[in-house]
Amino acid sequence: MNLPAPGSSPIRVRFAPSPTGMFHVGGARSALFNWAVAKRAGGTFVLRIEDTDAARNKPEWTSGILTAMASLGMHAEDPTFEGPYFQSANASLHTEAAQRLYTQGAAYYCDCTREDVAARTANAQTGYDGHCRERGLAYAAGRALRFRTPDEGETQVIDLIRGNPTFLNAVLEDFVIARGDGSAVFLLANVVDDISMRITHVIRGEEHLPNTPKQQLMWRALGVEPPTWAHLPVIVNERRQKLSKRRDKVALEDFLADGILPDAMVNYLMLLGWSPGNDEEILPFETLIERFDIAGVNSASAFFDVKKLTSFNGEYIRAMSTQEFIKACGPWLVAPHAPWTPEQFDEAAFAAIAPHAQSRLALLSDITNNVDFLFLDAPVDDAASWDKAMKEPAPALLADVRTALAGLETWQAEPLKELVTEVGAAHGLKLGKAQAPVRVATTGRTVGLPLFESLEVLGRERALTRIDAALTKLSA
Ligand code: GLU
Repeated sequence: MNLPAPGSSPIRVRFAPSPTGMFHVGGARSALFNWAVAKRAGGTFVLRIEDTDAARNKPEWTSGILTAMASLGMHAEDPTFEGPYFQSANASLHTEAAQRLYTQGAAYYCDCTREDVAARTANAQTGYDGHCRERGLAYAAGRALRFRTPDEGETQVIDLIRGNPTFLNAVLEDFVIARGDGSAVFLLANVVDDISMRITHVIRGEEHLPNTPKQQLMWRALGVEPPTWAHLPVIVNERRQKLSKRRDKVALEDFLADGILPDAMVNYLMLLGWSPGNDEEILPFETLIERFDIAGVNSASAFFDVKKLTSFNGEYIRAMSTQEFIKACGPWLVAPHAPWTPEQFDEAAFAAIAPHAQSRLALLSDITNNVDFLFLDAPVDDAASWDKAMKEPAPALLADVRTALAGLETWQAEPLKELVTEVGAAHGLKLGKAQAPVRVATTGRTVGLPLFESLEVLGRERALTRIDAALTKLSA
């Protein structure tokens, strides 16, 4: 890899998740883009857990974030990684900063209740009306601290993705920076931490853009040059709606549990708003990082295309060695995914069928249903498949296949295929139609891995027993 050594550049980025739920694919994309910037530059990636909302945070969400990030290759052992830090540990820094802003006149206390403000601003769109600006109130319990935004001029932020948007100061309300109990709110805590962690580039989701002019004003008021910003495009579903945990599947863990490979996920997420060019899509992480350019990220919303992710996954499955594939299938070959017992499982049979599965599956989780016929005593009983495949002339055909199979010299895919082709032709059926009843009789389903390779692995004895059972069922 042709990347500068970690820590060789002053660039410091951060990923600052709030541990209030499962790790979202949008969060994973933000983390990866920050990671790519840090790696690309030889800078540092800081992980800061923004855990100050005690009512909504849970320690298990934090460990979930750490595990999920590690599964995508972002972990504390990597020299680029710094942290994790916890925002809650910096509470005194946050209140000190609030005090400083008050002392220097950049903030003032306010005793308006929510109702007062609502009554006075019912017809205005600017939020707080500045009622307490010049009242000179001192701190008292229950009084909030508000930042004094400039009345005139504009605040321009340097945003590498959005062409430096400009905000009119007149429409920025005097926003709250500390609550009535003295504790700092998120907007301020986030700035104070970024300053104390010497963050040079704030790369985060577009939903934070409205906070940015307010935060930049605080950076300046605290005497520090603001960072360079980059607001990543929102991620939308197929109906162009913002991806939401209430509506869409968004938890990284759920995708991995369904058999999406971490490498495929990383590759796919890196393309959510960015492209390495040359129409190339499937590339190793190192190459993606080498080519990554935050300024090349598109500002338009990015479609999270589950079908495309799944097809990427298929390509990653195909790129594995058979041994790797067999190993990766491991979790889906035991309970609770697999309906067979460890005694029923046959490693050699699985190894024999694995290449046929590897060349076809898009999700590792699909392996279970595709190989269960090898390990269960009898094929699964799927009424829909049965009804579909066992129509006339299935009974007569199956009986003839049975007789021919019993006498087949070599039990291998090629002669098995020739045999079914011939018997099918005798019944006026093409191979596709002729093999359906054989497939359902031996595997239980109308779809699955290539039938003749499957029969070869299943073995003559079990295949004949199953066809006999199907014939009995048909004649009943
Ligand atoms: N904790 C914030 C969030 O999870 C991140 C804020 C930021 O990146 O500046 O949305």
